[in-house]
Amino acid sequence: MHLQAVFLDRDGTLGGDGHFCHPKDFVPYPWTAPAIEVLRILRVKIFGLTNQPRISAGEAAEQDFAEEFARLGCDGAYVCPHALDADCACRKPRPGLLVRAAQVHDLDLTRCAVIGDVGATDMLAASQVGALKILVKTGWGVGSLTDYRHCWVDVRPDYVAQDVLDAAHWLRRAGATAPAPRVRPGPSGALRAIEGDGGPGPVGERICGS
Ligand SMILES: [Mg+2]
Ligand SMILES: [Zn+2]
Repeated sequence: MHLQAVFLDRDGTLGGDGHFCHPKDFVPYPWTAPAIEVLRILRVKIFGLTNQPRISAGEAAEQDFAEEFARLGCDGAYVCPHALDADCACRKPRPGLLVRAAQVHDLDLTRCAVIGDVGATDMLAASQVGALKILVKTGWGVGSLTDYRHCWVDVRPDYVAQDVLDAAHWLRRAGATAPAPRVRPGPSGALRAIEGDGGPGPVGERICGS
């Protein structure tokens, strides 16, 4: 599978507890940086994908989140800043942010993955555009699979991961690589060791979500 980009939810996926957390207070999980390293090796684009309605209340700035995702190693951030009742096209589960990213970066969203902890937003948004759906069990993930499963009952995640690092490893095992090399091996040659580098690989088993 030639994956083009991975979209990462923030709260409950990269850190925090699933609730609002201002970027100045946000603490990534210990496994978040290693997960982004794995995705880097896969040579896919990495984007943040987050609903932050408190921006509309003036409690944070969109730029704060963009800078935070950049610090984490993302190539960009797609942030819905609108209020819950704004009826905007970009608040997950609506797919507006994904569609915008696809236009800007010329992406085939069926060759992209969304990793998030909330079925009713992250997985539904991914489903609407045909992206791979990976639910993490951090944040609201376990609740999404139990108490809130009815909110997204028609959608099955392609993989249920322990956390975002497990999700990244699953994509690696699935042979997810970018269509063409964009990164050359450095002097260390470290990238020569990439598993499945440059070639198509098997799509991972769809083992969860039943
Ligand atoms: Mg979340
Ligand atoms: Zn919005």
